[in-house]
Amino acid sequence: MQTEVPMSTTDEILKLDREHVWHPYSSFLNAPVVYPVASASGCTLTLADGRQLLDGMASWWCTIHGYNHPVLNDAMQSQLGKMSHVMFGGLTHEPAVELAALLVDITPPSLNKVFFSDSGSVAVEVAMKMALQYWHSQGKPQKSRLLSLRNGYHGDTFGAMSVCDPVTGMHHLFSNNLTQQLFVSAPVAGYDTPWDESYISEMQQALDQHHGELAAVILEPIVQGAGGMRFYPPKYLQRVRELCDHYDVLLIADEIATGFGRSGTLFACEHAGIEPDILCLGKALTGGYMTLAATLCNTRVSDGICRGEAGVFMHGPTFMGNPLACATALASTRLLLQSDWQQRVHDIKASLHKGLAPCSELDHVSDVRVLGAIGVVELEKPVHMATIQQELVNEGVWIRPFGKLVYVMPPYVMSAEELERLTAAMVRVVSDPARCFEP
Ligand SMILES: *Cc1c(COP(=O)(O)O)cnc(C)c1O
Repeated sequence: MQTEVPMSTTDEILKLDREHVWHPYSSFLNAPVVYPVASASGCTLTLADGRQLLDGMASWWCTIHGYNHPVLNDAMQSQLGKMSHVMFGGLTHEPAVELAALLVDITPPSLNKVFFSDSGSVAVEVAMKMALQYWHSQGKPQKSRLLSLRNGYHGDTFGAMSVCDPVTGMHHLFSNNLTQQLFVSAPVAGYDTPWDESYISEMQQALDQHHGELAAVILEPIVQGAGGMRFYPPKYLQRVRELCDHYDVLLIADEIATGFGRSGTLFACEHAGIEPDILCLGKALTGGYMTLAATLCNTRVSDGICRGEAGVFMHGPTFMGNPLACATALASTRLLLQSDWQQRVHDIKASLHKGLAPCSELDHVSDVRVLGAIGVVELEKPVHMATIQQELVNEGVWIRPFGKLVYVMPPYVMSAEELERLTAAMVRVVSDPARCFEP
């Protein structure tokens, strides 16, 4: 009789994972290594085998207060005892209303209407639909295209994808299904670069030529995230706002990544002192606990939509305003506002600056940049993911590079000692080409 050696639970999980489960941008043919996480607390992920990793990613910008936070746990548990969900058509509830009021309060003053949805991509779809319905209501349905920036990232659904960078978003794959939007080059100047009017000329020309068919400009204010981790000057954003006013085009600010303090101001629009017509929030909205997003707009947009042909805004997700997610978002946002987040983000910025500085000496590093609680090391060529991921895990840190970028955006609660450990590990791995590139 053949005796079967029972697989350990972790091996079983990994086997089933490889057979059945898609991961972000993954393949089943060349399945990437994935690390099973058993639990997470503070800034530390504990793997199933007991190894502990210091988390430099805040689970993709979300976990600003760290994992397993007592205040957020309490908020969820208390809401769970009341109701985890109830439909939003014809019904309302305290968590959604209080959250909406708080978001209206802390975002630029003219934004006063809030649409809740499930994820960032959907918040972008909602923003785009708002812009289209607005111009329809104004008797200008021909204003139906969007103008976006190259290197932008706005999500993975079809509308959102149509305004993502055409190359990294592989637009040619979907060319029959994607709306053909307009693009201008990404801003060339860095955050601190002295302003030159030439930086805005392509945007100005595009608006001058196409404003008659443009519903909105959509951009990530100040920080282009997943499309390249690039920082650009506040003046660029100011000039875009002026041009949108001049050419009568709406401005959509996608702050899904930058919202809630990440860039050093509560919202990145504040660097430029501008107000968008439509604002998208997500990611850190619930402190990384739940999936929730919000699209805010001003009265001009909401009035237009409601006076238009449809008479209503044509969107209504099943899980709209999910009470559990809203209660968590409310607790997370209050926790943030009560904390000394500005000092925290400032201290993280200083730590990242100091900690990553040795990388700028390296031949194979093209740039090191820090803004708010975001630290980026850009290499001369793309990393070899399998190699560098393993090396970073061996160093006890969780950092997930992409392309030429090795970057961190830690939880705001990360201590000075932890930040030092995080950046030191990053420097050790990046310093050695054998640990970064194709073996
Ligand atoms: C992550 C992100 C999105 C998409 O959000 P999902 O929740 O992943 O759908 C959209 N815009 C920006 C700027 C993002 O960083």
